[in-house]
Amino acid sequence: MIIQGKDVSNKILAEVKDIISKNKLEIHTVALYFKGDEESKVYFQSIKKNADRVGIDFRITEIGSENLIEEIKRLNDDQGIDSIIIARPFPEGVDSVEVSETIDPDKDLDCISPYNLGRLNYKDYDVAPATAKAAIDILKYNGIKLSGMNSLIINRSITVGRPLSQMLLNEDSTITVAHSKTKNIEELIENNDIVFLAVGKPGYLKATSIKNKKIIVDIGINVVDKKVVGDFEVDGKLDQIDYTPVPGGVGTVTSAEILMNALRLKMRS
Ligand code: NAP
Repeated sequence: MIIQGKDVSNKILAEVKDIISKNKLEIHTVALYFKGDEESKVYFQSIKKNADRVGIDFRITEIGSENLIEEIKRLNDDQGIDSIIIARPFPEGVDSVEVSETIDPDKDLDCISPYNLGRLNYKDYDVAPATAKAAIDILKYNGIKLSGMNSLIINRSITVGRPLSQMLLNEDSTITVAHSKTKNIEELIENNDIVFLAVGKPGYLKATSIKNKKIIVDIGINVVDKKVVGDFEVDGKLDQIDYTPVPGGVGTVTSAEILMNALRLKMRS
């Protein structure tokens, strides 16, 4: 089975739209991207399209890295702004810890503040890092249970692997986290029911190398010959494998999760 993201994304967006209109909410969000980072600008523009659909004001603004902290403080104090997202990765010279500690947790759309990340330790967290949440929701919305499953995450970044491990524990999954120094990853892949892949290397895992029934959640995004591909290579043998495609899988859901975060932050206030 190919586990598609489009329907999941549409369901989340419909839920956001419905709650906004029923509660007559006004949500104003600012997305900051750094001068010259056209990729992030395009990414934010794609989120803005969905924001327009659900009735969220999503303003995209260019910024110089030297003004970032000052601008975050200004937006923190601006009563007319509900939430802020800053394009990542940050340019050289930007202190990511300082940024995450400066942003008001109640305006933290990307869930980077220590407070919001800490709340993931509890089952009742509200906002969540969008990619990790998308990786979980794409399975849940497709009726795939996580409770009691053995899950392998190949990634330990603060954006993906670390929050995902907390959130999967909350779903009663049993977690192994692997990274570039982990030995015998092939064995770990064989011994787990679900593999969350976010290595950033095209062809890192090939379908033909998998021996038993498995679900692959491909979070990787790579560009090869101007085409977007994931880390999982579908090379023919798929009888026992369910997987999320790239494009059309986790990435499609991520944008909807960001808008769900915007709504949840608004509900806090
Ligand atoms: P990252 O910080 O570079 O993390 C890559 C992870 O892969 C690290 O933990 C690294 O281990 C591990 N790794 C590298 N080579 C490995 C190997 N040979 N075997 C096992 N593990 C290995 O990148 P990131 O920001 O987390 O993003 C990861 C991927 O997800 C990228 O392709 C990115 O484009 C994609 N992504 C997708 C979305 C989405 O919405 N779908 C959002 C964000 C990111 P070490 O920690 O030891 O270096």
